[in-house]
Amino acid sequence: MQLNFISNQSVASQSGQSLPVMDPSDGQIFDHIQRSNAQDIDHAVQAARQCFQGPWALINAAERGRLLMQLSAKVLEHAEELSALEQRDCGKPTQQARADARALARYFEFYAGACDKFHGQTIPYQNGYSVLTWREPHGVTGHIIPWNYPMQIFGRSVGGALAAGNVCVVKPAEDACLSLIRVAQLAAEVGFPAGAINIVTGLGHEVGDALARHPGVDHISFTGSPTVGTLIQQVAAERHCPVTLELGGKSPQIIFADADLDAAIPVVINAIVQNSGQTCSAGSRVLIERAIYEPLLERLGQAFSKLRVGPAAMDLSLGPLIRASQKQRVEGFLAQAKADGIATVARGVVVDQAPASGFYQAPVLLRDVPVDHRVAQEEVFGPVLSAMCFEGEDQAASLANATEFGLVAGVWTRDGARQFRMARRLRSGQVFINNYGAGGGVELPFGGVKSSGYGREKGLEALLGFTTLKTVAILHG
Ligand code: NAD
Repeated sequence: MQLNFISNQSVASQSGQSLPVMDPSDGQIFDHIQRSNAQDIDHAVQAARQCFQGPWALINAAERGRLLMQLSAKVLEHAEELSALEQRDCGKPTQQARADARALARYFEFYAGACDKFHGQTIPYQNGYSVLTWREPHGVTGHIIPWNYPMQIFGRSVGGALAAGNVCVVKPAEDACLSLIRVAQLAAEVGFPAGAINIVTGLGHEVGDALARHPGVDHISFTGSPTVGTLIQQVAAERHCPVTLELGGKSPQIIFADADLDAAIPVVINAIVQNSGQTCSAGSRVLIERAIYEPLLERLGQAFSKLRVGPAAMDLSLGPLIRASQKQRVEGFLAQAKADGIATVARGVVVDQAPASGFYQAPVLLRDVPVDHRVAQEEVFGPVLSAMCFEGEDQAASLANATEFGLVAGVWTRDGARQFRMARRLRSGQVFINNYGAGGGVELPFGGVKSSGYGREKGLEALLGFTTLKTVAILHG
């Protein structure tokens, strides 16, 4: 049984209730987490507040950096343990789970270095004045995390918030809590004071909602679906609480006829099969210039048919989806596409060793998908790639921008001027040219436009969102 972690102590929920933890590879329940309630959130927020006003206030920026660096080292020391936890919890293939643990350590390392290098400005003003700006932490920040990349999203969100001087209350997704509870324990071991990092598990509409509503929470960082993002904004608006929203995507990869196809093909495939397509920045649409449409589809199809799906520990190209309802969701999109006459170019293979009780979905490549079809418009959150044909830059940009989302885009062309033109025209938080970062590196600011959200995490840019600016004007004559 897993407990909450509040004030550097493992504690049971005051509800006395728990939730099962399921292994997506075989559908079996192997652990339980706390089904917390609003009282637990209140307990965690109070612990965080006491920390913020007490021991945390005595820790200067350089010391915060040292703590984060020690946590980074500790995560690396425990990388196998953390990746094994997340692998079982989320069904991640071994290499992916290990990469996520390393990314978590790297976030802490990056933000450790930023702590004492993030500062305000002096502003020339009227004679006799000195004006300066201070970047101050919000105080207690609330972090609501999805299940697809718990360690990575915790690293970027909590890492940035701590570096900026905040203390954190974290609500992981009910499907994926185990690695984060352990990271909070490791943080206590390296010396983070009680209340700096608190983890409260439970259901979104219960404990997530309570966190977003709590008057003691000064900023909310939400990563998840657009639907819940709307609810978070409504709740936060009632008390004017600032919010950062990292929501979904329907990201295009645009391939012009002059592209280096040998380089593009593996990247295009990885961008949709990574984490079984359960990635906000999954490259779920591939837009191909007419001159190379058929030959490229054939090559992509050949590669798709070689992809294998199986239990996480087999470490194949794809593991299972997170749960039965996610599999049903993906199947629903595919059934609709079939009923509407959309042709399948190729699909991968679910291996024989995959238990029938697991949630496996073979990757599927669809062709000639109409731009207004729901499989081309909505976030499937599964390994389904929709191919479309275009002619010229105008049509490429118009198709790419024709969804409610704007998170990431990829452009493949050797034409340097076109690279800049396309990057300018795409309504998207990130644009990759001749590569695709599926969310990008730790250093690269990340976030969306339109229904993909607002605010930025990752990079130094995140620190702007995790702080508030105070202007101090001194009249000294
Ligand atoms: P979700 O919105 O269902 O849940 C996200 C989190 O919100 C979970 O912790 C959940 O418990 C909580 N939650 C649910 N209802 C709530 C409520 N009423 N009040 C407060 N909290 C609530 O999303 P999900 O299914 O866990 O994750 C998948 C979604 O997340 C996809 O849309 C994906 O694109 C998005 N995502 C975005 C990014 C990004 O950085 N842009 C990264 C990863 C995932």
